[in-house]
Amino acid sequence: MVNPEIEKRKTFAIISHPDAGKTTLTEKFLLFGGAINTAGAVKRNKANQSNTSDFMEIERQRGISVATSVMGFEYKDKRINILDTPGHKDFAEDTYRTLSAVDSVILVVDCVKGVEEQTEKLMSVCRMRNTPVIIFVNKMDREGKEPFDLLDEIEQKLNISLCPLSWPIGQGHTFKGVYSIYNNHLNLFNSDKTKVTDSVVAVSDLNDEALLDYLKESEVQGLKDDTELVDGVYGKLDKSLYTDGLLAPVFFGSAINNFGIKEILDTFIEIAPSPRLREAEERDVLVEEKNFSGFVFKIHANLDPKHRDRIAFLRICSGKFERNKFYYHTRQNKKLKFSNPMDFMANEKSIVEEAWPGDVVGLYDSGNFKIGDTLTEGEKLQFKGIPSFSPAIFKEVENMDPMRTKQLEKGIEQLTDEGVAQLFVMQPGNRKVIGAVGELQFEVISFRLEHEYGAKCRFRTLTYSRSRWVTSTDNKKLEEFVKRKQQHIGVDKEGHPVYLADNDFMIDMTKRDYPDIEFHTTSEFK
Ligand code: GDP
Repeated sequence: MVNPEIEKRKTFAIISHPDAGKTTLTEKFLLFGGAINTAGAVKRNKANQSNTSDFMEIERQRGISVATSVMGFEYKDKRINILDTPGHKDFAEDTYRTLSAVDSVILVVDCVKGVEEQTEKLMSVCRMRNTPVIIFVNKMDREGKEPFDLLDEIEQKLNISLCPLSWPIGQGHTFKGVYSIYNNHLNLFNSDKTKVTDSVVAVSDLNDEALLDYLKESEVQGLKDDTELVDGVYGKLDKSLYTDGLLAPVFFGSAINNFGIKEILDTFIEIAPSPRLREAEERDVLVEEKNFSGFVFKIHANLDPKHRDRIAFLRICSGKFERNKFYYHTRQNKKLKFSNPMDFMANEKSIVEEAWPGDVVGLYDSGNFKIGDTLTEGEKLQFKGIPSFSPAIFKEVENMDPMRTKQLEKGIEQLTDEGVAQLFVMQPGNRKVIGAVGELQFEVISFRLEHEYGAKCRFRTLTYSRSRWVTSTDNKKLEEFVKRKQQHIGVDKEGHPVYLADNDFMIDMTKRDYPDIEFHTTSEFK
């Protein structure tokens, strides 16, 4: 028997290539859920894409992203938790980590642009964990790609089977609405950007005469032809394939116009999975276990340098989390209690007394946590599924103020604990190398080192552009490899050796020369 508190929770993230409509869709969900009253209440959580040196923008964004990290609301007796992810590609690792804390995902695709670079990357991260994905094809009010062509493109580029659950009637200036294949109802296009309007016309099926009151005969015929083809090509929804992450239901609509939102939201709460079992290093942890457990997937520093406390975001995996109860920090082997854990409802934070699997609570932290830390009621557990990915840019840290060496070291240590970027230590000389996805991360590090730690550094760009975590079943062979390749080996924060390479060619050559060594693209491997 699963606890109804757990069963009612739907924790997910909306993800997309920048500008496809993630923020707009999030806002419309909150509007439908009654969590906000007017459009425009959700702040756009993105740094200016064109101007990477705008520090104020970065700071502003960090402020906003605390406010919008989790947006919870009640809808039709369900508790919905939307976890926000940064839009800027330089903060992609942050997004990947947030995806470790959700039970499913809604992926937004722009019908004009189709599958974009970031869409593919995000999908591949979902595939790693078999996260169930629903696809929302947005901006149907614009002249975009033809729906069948677009579905082909999505299937091919994202390497996933699809099953359309709604179908557009026209597109661009001829866009009339969406027919729900799943519920057999018709939603007519009514361009209203600020309010929730109920313009659902119930029909028994596509032969219902009532359709002709709203659509031309040719439109009804076109819809019949299309949906027949959809049925023939894609068939009916197999829910278990969806929950296993092998099949993605597809919805069409226009987020800015409130269109197709109700279809996707109503179907989402019906089919999206509630919290499920989580893998820990030691064993699988079931949601309905009595004892509490959870892990930290995101850490947010305080904007005010005078208050160095941070907020650690904890995803609850089992049991019940309670305020003021002692919990066991498994990495540091100590007990901690939290007197002000935060709950997030839409744009408001409040102190929470208890929370259930699927929920995210914010814990004030004075430096105890790093990404991936696990809390339990005493059992030694370490949750899996929060790997580091290969960075693309590597730079060596050069201290610019020898009087502030300690501050620099502490700053680098804490910022990399927070997951701002990755740290590798190289020999000889314990040189510190920072690995990041984009230049913006280095700017954030310099800025924060200076403003929060009073330390100054310069970054020297290295030629590397790839990292591979190396292991071997033969320890001797691994030691020998690390010795021979010393100038390319960095040690990560967990103490694991990582091979740094300039390009794929170099990795392939090394693989050939060292057949006993295994090379991994992420820090977590079986
Ligand atoms: P994000 O970067 O994915 O969060 O995208 P936003 O939600 O900020 O949307 C990017 C731009 O697309 C904004 O200017 C929106 O107003 C616009 N937009 C969002 N949804 C639609 C839509 O359905 N139709 C049209 N034409 N524009 C949209």
